[in-house]
Amino acid sequence: MSSWKDYIRKVVPYTPGEQPKTDGIIKLNTNENPYPPSPLVGLKMKEMSDSGLRKYPDATSEKLIRRLADYHNVGYDQVFAGVGSDDVLGMIFMTFFNSDKKVLFPDISYSFYPVWAELLNIPYEQIPLDSDYRINEKDYNIPNGGIVIANPNAPTGILLEKDKIINIIENNQDSIVVIDEAYIDFAPEGSSCLDLIDKYENVIVVRTFSKSRSLAGLRVGYAISRPENIKYINDVKYSYNSYTLNTCSIEVGSVSIDDEAYFRNTVNKIVSTREAYTERLKELGFNVLPSSTNFVFASHKSVKAIEIFNYLKSKNIFVRYFNVPKIDNFLRITIGTDEEMEKLCNALTEIL
Ligand code: PMP
Repeated sequence: MSSWKDYIRKVVPYTPGEQPKTDGIIKLNTNENPYPPSPLVGLKMKEMSDSGLRKYPDATSEKLIRRLADYHNVGYDQVFAGVGSDDVLGMIFMTFFNSDKKVLFPDISYSFYPVWAELLNIPYEQIPLDSDYRINEKDYNIPNGGIVIANPNAPTGILLEKDKIINIIENNQDSIVVIDEAYIDFAPEGSSCLDLIDKYENVIVVRTFSKSRSLAGLRVGYAISRPENIKYINDVKYSYNSYTLNTCSIEVGSVSIDDEAYFRNTVNKIVSTREAYTERLKELGFNVLPSSTNFVFASHKSVKAIEIFNYLKSKNIFVRYFNVPKIDNFLRITIGTDEEMEKLCNALTEIL
């Protein structure tokens, strides 16, 4: 006799980085921004009235989408917003990956991609990075049902040059190519693929407010593509949950885009801290992969990553360790303030 227990959807979920509940921790484990969001954010939060919360949010998130469209100089019908880029990516997987061909993404990349594929019964193949932890664009010239590239990649931090992404797009005109640009604001100017949307109808670029805009807690992400692609994603969203973004995310997210000077300033500070502390880590005996993000991926020449991870944790410094083949001797260290990075290096000298 079969029971309801035989029909439970069993999945191996994505494991988010630890969010410690205690104070006094140097938290370099989930790629959050060490600086607070723009002061405009706090002002808007105070100004928001409770009457705004009595009503359902605007299901179209129009205010936020108009600001994003203006900011990126694209049409209002070219932007889709969701509850962090996780929500946006999940919707994209649901919308576009319905063929019986495999969706391709690198074997070392954002670990949520295979989880969505499993959840949604999407066939997929993880394409190995080369021995330098880089994506080889030629590996993507095989039949597929879609391609997802995080650029810069995570957790390696390595940026794939734009001409190589263009190769992937041109060689895969029959597939949707999703470029997850969660960390692109920390990469050199001109690295983004946003401008490719005009030229190619099969490209979707995904962005987030969680890293460069210091708003991981607000949960806002978005996609930019051709209007027809955005319509397909919206149709899926409205078939699943019409009120994804809440009123606070729409209002606060909208004003946060206005403070360009603040945004540039904090991004520049993180990039210069990253460059300075990459050198420090190298001096301490780490191999640090070249990062275009707000984190570095590093392995030590003599001390095992897990040992360093545990030692740092005992000192209340949290970094990320992935117990996964190929990268199980690496640590992913989010770039904090100079002061936090100094404390990290001091603690490292005690164990190395
Ligand atoms: N893409 C990549 C590559 C990421 O590292 C993350 C952060 N975990 C996300 C997407 C999702 O970020 P969020 O949902 O906060 O926008």
